[in-house]
Amino acid sequence: MGRKFVVGGNWKMNGDKNQINEIVNNLKKGPLDENVEVIIGVPAIYLAYVKSIVPDSIAVAAQNCWKVPKGAFTGEISPAMLKDVGINWVILGHSERRSIFGEKDELVAEKVAHALESGLKVIACIGETLEEREAGKTEEVVFRQTKALLSAIGDKWANVVLAYEPVWAIGTGKTASPQQAQEVHSSLRNWLSTNASPDVANAVRIQYGGSVTAANAKELAACSDIDGFLVGGASLKPEFVDIINATK
Ligand code: PEP
Repeated sequence: MGRKFVVGGNWKMNGDKNQINEIVNNLKKGPLDENVEVIIGVPAIYLAYVKSIVPDSIAVAAQNCWKVPKGAFTGEISPAMLKDVGINWVILGHSERRSIFGEKDELVAEKVAHALESGLKVIACIGETLEEREAGKTEEVVFRQTKALLSAIGDKWANVVLAYEPVWAIGTGKTASPQQAQEVHSSLRNWLSTNASPDVANAVRIQYGGSVTAANAKELAACSDIDGFLVGGASLKPEFVDIINATK
């Protein structure tokens, strides 16, 4: 069976109720390609609200969660809490979490392991910085970040989407070219074939993220190893519908 195209929106720390209503109304109006899985990543405080107004065909994701079910972790939310309010997805390891909040591979892996054990599905983000790319270390970084996730994921690959997001392309307007993105997706899939299993490599969906817009989505979506997008800025705009429909 082919890999179902999966498009995530990452609102980051944006939106208020008015804007959220507009975004959701726009998604409801669509029309959205029914063959595409859509997941919107919402600020924690609006998760329950968004869940209450979106159709069931659109999944809602948290943008982060902690690595244990409950306790003295001021300011954190747990997978158990997310599940309790009907949220089934979480984005983990986003480059902003890694760079601004200092999340290392090991912590990301602990979070991924606990989220999966708790029954959440995970969009796990990886990607190199510009400095790392220019030093020829793209594969080394992406493989290292993914290796850290292997034991955390274990046999739960069906509940994981990988998001390859070159840090230099996030929020910069500098999209990776389809060739650049396809090259990393393809070598990551080969790496997974050796280091996880050929079945995992064949089945896992790898999203591309980094300045995806309606203007560049179709060309990127046509690449054989790009199975969807994780979209930041453009997921707040009406063009998100066109990005979802990029394979149509
Ligand atoms: C992101 O936040 O994951 C992202 C890819 O952002 P943008 O689309 O704005 O580059």
